[in-house]
Order: sequence, then structure tokens, then C-alpha cells
Amino acid sequence: MIPGPSPVPARLRLVPRWLSVCTFVGTALAVLGGCGGGRDSDTAPAPEGATAPAGPPSIVLVSLDTTRADRLGCYGYAGAETPTLDALAAAGVVFEETSSPAPITLPAHASLMTGLGPHRHGVRDNGLHRLPDDLDTLGTILRARGYATAAVVGAAVLDRQYGLDAGFATWDDRMGGGALLAIPERDAAAVTDAALAAAADLEPPFLLFVHYFDPHADYRPPPPFAERFRDRPYDGEIAFVDRELGRLLDGLRAAGALDGAVVSVVADHGESLGEHGERAHGVLLYRSTLRVPWILSAPGRLPAGRRVATFARLTDVMPTLVELAGASAPSGLDGTSLVAAARGTAATPDTPWLRSSPSSATTPTAGRRCGASPTAA
Ligand SMILES: [Zn+2]
Repeated sequence: MIPGPSPVPARLRLVPRWLSVCTFVGTALAVLGGCGGGRDSDTAPAPEGATAPAGPPSIVLVSLDTTRADRLGCYGYAGAETPTLDALAAAGVVFEETSSPAPITLPAHASLMTGLGPHRHGVRDNGLHRLPDDLDTLGTILRARGYATAAVVGAAVLDRQYGLDAGFATWDDRMGGGALLAIPERDAAAVTDAALAAAADLEPPFLLFVHYFDPHADYRPPPPFAERFRDRPYDGEIAFVDRELGRLLDGLRAAGALDGAVVSVVADHGESLGEHGERAHGVLLYRSTLRVPWILSAPGRLPAGRRVATFARLTDVMPTLVELAGASAPSGLDGTSLVAAARGTAATPDTPWLRSSPSSATTPTAGRRCGASPTAA
């Protein structure tokens, strides 16, 4: 069921302590800048010999919190140490320009799971809203088709109480604690350990969702990345996550779990890193926090080494994965399957989302907390 455009009434809970000092809420600006216009240049034919393996594929969906596309090697950053992501990109499809609908973790993940913008699913902030139970999600759709499902998340922002666990048989949100007033989280090594343990109980086809939180501020990569990236700790956090993602994929591969599988890696939003006067994210709506990486690898189903230049959106991920699973996404989503664009058999659809999505130009929490006027594009 797709809701109407009215915001879903919030089921308020006690606001967690970390929310009161969270760095990714603040003053909203009405300006959505730096995203440019769509291009329809990805019309090259798909490579020959790309025969889809039989049966529905297992799907590994990885979310890298707070990760800028332009800090990855496969997006052209010379200072990156991201061999896992670069290899995944070489084996699959890279969407060059993918946009998040909101530079805030929970709303962005709600859009990732539902294919709906925040104005449709109603989750407008961390800690204050729960995804409505009657929405179709990637988890509910695939579980209804017989998929085994499991998830492991790296921060309390995605605790199961916020409803993203719909359709997942297990949702591992056990955190290791954290400092007072800090977001409870666990590092990428702990997430990979938990994800490998969860995957050991999954029979194909399965959906495994894994969320890495490390690139989120503050930036404190562990050794040896702390030393190697002494002057660039944000890049060091990404390098640490890349190593742990590699350990996850290697473990799955060794168990045969990646045979014929789809691996999709995205970020929920970027990080401003001081651009436009913003240190982190959640306040301003520039490309620095809205542009995210999206890498989609599915050997035998999608071409290798293909780069799609036209716009994609985080809301496109769910319908794309549903189509790759052999199912049909619900009608009326904000997102669109980009399987044909990934294969090069069709250009990315013209999606004038900048003009049509009323939630894309505002962070509502910024208005609520700082008195800025909510705006709509
Ligand atoms: Zn986030």
C-alpha cells in the first residue's frame, strides 16, 4: 500500500540522549544546489554473453553511512584506499550521479527500503518517526517471495523500533554502547563479524542488509588506518570500512553465498567536510551531502565495468533490486527500476525529481529546532 502525500503521524517515543546533540540536525536551507541536470548518455548496448543465471539471486545490500562518492577510488579520488569497492565497481555497474532524498540517516534509509521519498513514507527525522507498518519494503516484498532475510546495522539510529526491520527475520541492532550523549554504534569489524554470523544461517535466495556507520563523525579510524590517514581521518574511516566490506564479501564468497548473487552498495548521504560552512551533514542541501555512491554488481545479470552517467536516486534502489529478484515493485513508487539503464538497453528515465519532490529541499528538523522555514522544491 502506498500512502498519500500527507505525513504519517509520528509515533513519538522518548528522544534518545544522542539525538539531542546529534550533529546531523540543524538549520535547513531552501537551496538545493550543485546537482546539475540530467544527461541521457548511457545508451551503449549491453555486452554480449551476459546470460542471467537461473533462479532468483541472493541479494547483499550494503549501506555505507555518510560516504561521499567522490572519496572513493572508483569515483576518481586519487587519495582513496578502497580496493574492495573499486573491484566491485569494475565487476559491475557504477551510477555516477545518485542522489539521496535527505542527508539524514533514518529518512534516507526509509527511502532506500521503500522506494518512497520522505514526504511519502513520513519518516522525516532520526529518532522521532517510525516507518508505517503497512508499507511495502524491500524486506517484505522479498520475504513474501520466499527469500530468507537478515540485517545487521552499525548504529542505534537504525534500531528496529523505527520500523525498517519490516520483512527481516532477524535485525541485529546490538550496539556496543558508546560515550554519554554519543550515538550508540559498533565499528565495521564488529558489523562484519555479525553479518558473517547471520549469513551462515541463510539459505539462498537470501536478502542480507548490512549497514556500516564508521564514516560518520567523529572520525576515528583504528590502526593502521589512523596512522596512514593521520591528516585525513574521514578517508581513513572509509578505508577501514572498505577493508571490512572486503572481509564480508570474501567470507560470503568462500561459503558459496555469492554465486549468482547481486551485491549493491550505496550510501545514505554524503558529508560536507566544511564545504559551504557545514562540518558534517543534515543542515545544508548541497551536492556534498546529497550525492552518494551506488555500485551494483551482478555478474551474469549485469555488464561489468559499465558507468551510468544520468541521474539515479536512492529511491531507485529498491525497485531495481526487486526487478533483479524477478519480482515487480509496487506501482506508485517515487523510485524507478534502473535495470534497463544498468544493462545499457535504455537510458535512465528522465526524472525531474528536483522539481517534483516536495521534501527534497528541506530538512524538517532544522526548521523545528532552529526556526528555519520548511521549504519545498
Ligand atoms: Zn547517515
